[in-house]
Amino acid sequence: MSDPSTPDPSTPDDPAPVYAVRDLTRVYPGSRTVVAVDNVSLTVRRGQRLGIVGESGSGKSTLIRMLAALDRPTAGDIRLHGRSIIGVPERRLGFLRSAVQLVFQDPRSSLDPRMRVGDIITEPLRSRMMRHRSDVPDDHAARLTEVLEAVGLPADSARRFPHEFSGGQRQRIAIARALAPRPEVLIADEPVSALDVSVRAQVLNLLNDLVDRMGLTMIFVSHDLLVVRHVCDSVAVMRGGRIVEAGTTEQVYQRPQEPYTQALLAAIPTIRFER
Ligand code: ADP
Ligand code: MG
Repeated sequence: MSDPSTPDPSTPDDPAPVYAVRDLTRVYPGSRTVVAVDNVSLTVRRGQRLGIVGESGSGKSTLIRMLAALDRPTAGDIRLHGRSIIGVPERRLGFLRSAVQLVFQDPRSSLDPRMRVGDIITEPLRSRMMRHRSDVPDDHAARLTEVLEAVGLPADSARRFPHEFSGGQRQRIAIARALAPRPEVLIADEPVSALDVSVRAQVLNLLNDLVDRMGLTMIFVSHDLLVVRHVCDSVAVMRGGRIVEAGTTEQVYQRPQEPYTQALLAAIPTIRFER
């Protein structure tokens, strides 16, 4: 008998979600108490590309930081393949650290300027080796070559330093590092918001291709609804820490139910020209 809390990932119509989030709340105490995430529940299924949209300060980053166990909720539960990650000490979070990788907004601050690109990209592999004592360094060199190629960077990038690259290339480096350990879930927080408009589409297309090719599940955060429509099949709209509307990208963009969502969409000039 299989354990129902660890479903077989090869099942085509996997009924068990990758993430199951229930009644999640994060309060930042202080002189002015902030309820950054307020009673959020959501489910992320295998292969889903979930967009989380909302204005600045709506709680998007706080929510995904908790999904990645970089922040602890005040209340509620997060299950990854049925296993709760709440209250689990870091040394027991190996299952999450291997499965979930992140890409952040600003590759300038997320890439260590003193490290060579090759070391930056293989760093998650070294961390995993420390956790599992399994893979050998030779695999790392092969994987480095693979992921550099996958993100469209020349092989000699490995010897260079982040400052030698453009903003778009730096974000490709960050994506290569996230993909190196073969994650199941990619969480991206405003991954193109710091980039020139001219390179945004290239990076989004790259992400789309990689998610397809590697069969990833993606959680993609952006304040920019056009960007989310480009890469996501479903979307959750956040306001004041709550999810006020959720559905398929088509439902939410074509037939938004909430006045807040309607206002967000109305603020995008190009949407108005569509039926
Ligand atoms: P978003 O990513 O949607 O812009 P955030 O999750 O960053 O929103 O922030 C949600 C709310 O929580 C904001 O009011 C923000 O000021 C507050 N907040 C975020 N991080 C902290 C923190 N470490 N301490 C106190 N307040 C915070
Ligand atoms: Mg944010």
